[in-house]
Amino acid sequence: MQEVKFLDLHHQYLSIKEDIDDAMSNVMRTSAYIGGKYIEQFEKNFSAYLGTNHCIGVGNGTDALEIALWSLNMSEGSEVIVPANSFIASSEAVSRCGYKVVFADIDENYLLDVDKLSTLISEKTAAIMVVHLYGQAVNMKTVMDIAKAHNLKVIEDCAQAHGAEYKGQKVGSFGDIATFSFYPGKNLGAYGDGGAIVTLDVALAEKCRAYSNHGRTSKFSHEIEGRNSRLDGLQAAVLDVKLKSLPLWIEKRNRVADYYLKHIDQNKFILPKRDMASSHVWHLFVLRHNSRDEICEYMKSKGIGMGIHYPQALPNLRAYEKHPQDCSQYRACKWDKTLFSIPIGEHLREDEIRYIVETLNAF
Ligand SMILES: *Cc1c(COP(=O)(O)O)cnc(C)c1O
Repeated sequence: MQEVKFLDLHHQYLSIKEDIDDAMSNVMRTSAYIGGKYIEQFEKNFSAYLGTNHCIGVGNGTDALEIALWSLNMSEGSEVIVPANSFIASSEAVSRCGYKVVFADIDENYLLDVDKLSTLISEKTAAIMVVHLYGQAVNMKTVMDIAKAHNLKVIEDCAQAHGAEYKGQKVGSFGDIATFSFYPGKNLGAYGDGGAIVTLDVALAEKCRAYSNHGRTSKFSHEIEGRNSRLDGLQAAVLDVKLKSLPLWIEKRNRVADYYLKHIDQNKFILPKRDMASSHVWHLFVLRHNSRDEICEYMKSKGIGMGIHYPQALPNLRAYEKHPQDCSQYRACKWDKTLFSIPIGEHLREDEIRYIVETLNAF
């Protein structure tokens, strides 16, 4: 039986092995483990790629969100709007900073429903968190217009959308501040945990830099208390190598998505839609069907790796059992039983892509 992996990090490593091995041994030769040349180089290259002036490497994508939210200096108890369909890190970071989560519903593309955004804004609302989920950019024009009209901050969670664009502009460069995750399975992944904060605002950048490094302004000068969350040299060196391949990997993901969109039976499955204003980097290819669990079992029995993103919308999680908002009528809270993800990535061969489609259509 054919085996098709959902994610194949070893395959990716082999395709860039020489450069990765060199980069890692350079770090070890110079002992540049924390701070130093490799982190500076990656921060510079990543912000240049995105078109943001500042990049601060941190320990992971969740810390990036927490530190970014902290730097916005909103009053305790402020409300932050968060989409109901995301990974828990998005809402977790809001609560950890002492703010209140207000869940927003999703649209047909599984992204923050910008048409209903205004109905969620109260006197206490201080910020909107957008999540460019599955690799697709949110309609940032509308979000920024609403934010401006209500004097709200905007934070972009770009953990799944390295390189995605809205009207030709890369995500991470729209809001006040934006965050990335380099968890190994992300489109740009480290060999361990990693994350970054990016912004065009020099004052926010300086705050985040200090917050993530014990409030330091120099080695033993601490004007405030911060915390310790840094991207290390080895991860930065790996990421700097991988960043060069990212545009090609995005192109390959798009080719797979094109094939899926053309050949998967639209009468059987609800396919993702392409939004013409935004470029998609296809971190995940997510479909809907009422017999989701049977499909996943069946596909796995045919050797195909499957995923569910996410099995429970955030308001449906145990962690939010006592959350004051009733979100039961949200699309996000009903659709979570029907979502499933098929493999997508630069590792897939043509015969594997055909096999996935043939198998799925035969369900
Ligand atoms: C992965 C992810 C995060 C968290 O990143 P970590 O590096 O795992 O902490 C945050 N938000 C979203 C949408 C993610 O997918």
